[in-house]
Amino acid sequence: MKLSRRKLLAGGAALGVAAPVAQHMMWSQREFSLPGYDPTAPPATATSASWMNWSGSQKATPAAINYPVGEAGVQDLVRIATGRVRPVGSGHSFTGLARSDDMMVDLAGMDSLISYDPSTGHATFGAGIKLFHAAAELNQRGRAFANLPDIDVQTLAGSFATGTHGTGNQLTALHDYIESFRLVTANGDVLDVSRNSHPDVFQAGKVSLGALGIITQFTVRTVPAFSLHRKLTIEPMAPFFDRIEALGEQHRNFEFFYSPGTQLVAWLSHDEYAGAPTEREDSHDDTFLLGLKQLRDSFGWFPWLRRKIAQASFPTGLIEDVKDESWALLSTTRPHKFNEMEYHLPRENGVTTLRKIVAMLDRKKDVFFPLEYRHVAADNAWLSPFNGGPRSSIAIHAAADEPYDYFFSEFEPVYRAVGGRPHWGKHHSLRREALSALYPEFETFLELRRDLDPSGKFLNRHLSGLFGESFNG
Ligand SMILES: Cc1cc2nc3c(=O)[nH]c(=O)nc-3n(C[C@H](O)[C@H](O)[C@H](O)COP(=O)(O)OP(=O)(O)OC[C@H]3O[C@@H](n4cnc5c(N)ncnc54)[C@H](O)[C@@H]3O)c2cc1C
Repeated sequence: MKLSRRKLLAGGAALGVAAPVAQHMMWSQREFSLPGYDPTAPPATATSASWMNWSGSQKATPAAINYPVGEAGVQDLVRIATGRVRPVGSGHSFTGLARSDDMMVDLAGMDSLISYDPSTGHATFGAGIKLFHAAAELNQRGRAFANLPDIDVQTLAGSFATGTHGTGNQLTALHDYIESFRLVTANGDVLDVSRNSHPDVFQAGKVSLGALGIITQFTVRTVPAFSLHRKLTIEPMAPFFDRIEALGEQHRNFEFFYSPGTQLVAWLSHDEYAGAPTEREDSHDDTFLLGLKQLRDSFGWFPWLRRKIAQASFPTGLIEDVKDESWALLSTTRPHKFNEMEYHLPRENGVTTLRKIVAMLDRKKDVFFPLEYRHVAADNAWLSPFNGGPRSSIAIHAAADEPYDYFFSEFEPVYRAVGGRPHWGKHHSLRREALSALYPEFETFLELRRDLDPSGKFLNRHLSGLFGESFNG
């Protein structure tokens, strides 16, 4: 999608609208930055290491970050640890799940395909492998993941642990592909877990928040490799909103983005396709986002003007029409850092809640990051947000250097009022009482966690808050 800032501004000029000068000056002097935001990791002391998550919302100086290269190494680390231990993946969660002041364990060195069984299509990977690497290994064997999220640099373990998902009415979140896994528990022992060997640990461990121990490898279900046909269309929001359910039924993968203040949506469909890939431009381009920011910075004070300029400047209709292998199309990159809140709502509440959220975003004037709307199919992992029925997911974003406190004060109550469950890896404020009411097996999960880890070796402040456990450093 090519939309230059120059073109956006030219659109504004073409309208020839003179903004009232005083208001415009007030708006242009407005401070959008988040106080204290610093996009660098905290300095490590002589006795600590330094860690920061992708968006910069979580920082830590743990006593050590260890990089074991085999299961025995993980067992040794857990056995000798005297403080708290947290496994960490690529650090792409926005919440404080992976932080520890004591030991963090990164399985980046356990990132290979361990075995592949052509008779079942099951593949066993080291838990630290990144999604794109695992997808490439599968592709070489004529296999694929049935679905992928927006980006593919997360680890397999990190993705599964938080219920990471893509979109599609018939497509489950990634953890639903798990057939078995190996878990290093708090005393350093290894459990070889499948639905038959340890039924409870299996259902709890698929979305574990890293709270049951360190998983060293996963065996996952795969599907025959397939190609997709992607279409990206920009059109007016109002008539489009009436077609959301039908489009979700019609396309294998369906999602859309709403750009605040524009009344325009950009929607994406992916459908299976047999044939050669088409040539396509590199889509690692955030010109569109910069255009939206410029529009907000220049015309945010005047919602009607912002809308008119967007509508006059944005291309509409079919913007992209490409074909390629599934793993090359489903995930892209996100060069512009942000903070995010995503709630998964019972499917029947999706569109009505969406309408409310969009109206709220438009009223806020200073939001420019697009909202993302997706569909995810049901599964049965205990802490899966999709446990018990399909969900509609609504994600809102704020630039990483801008405030996002309104996520909690204004938007979260709207999601909660309709039974929304938060993405475990994205900002939310829920604690035990609320989570227990949302997840039928939440208390059972907590009991199992206490059985596996009575001393709380794998707890940190964030998890203790979620689980209603006391935490003393
Ligand atoms: C730009 C961006 C785009 C995103 N897009 C999507 C999307 O499309 N869909 C979606 O659902 N989410 C999305 N997310 C959220 C992201 O997928 C999740 O937060 C995911 O958990 C990140 O994986 P990670 O490897 O970075 O894990 P981390 O964030 O490092 O860790 C996540 C959890 O996994 C645990 N963990 C890590 N390794 C192990 C292990 N070996 N054993 C046990 N537990 C372990 C950690 O303790 C922690 O609890 C996105 C995030 C970003 C920043």
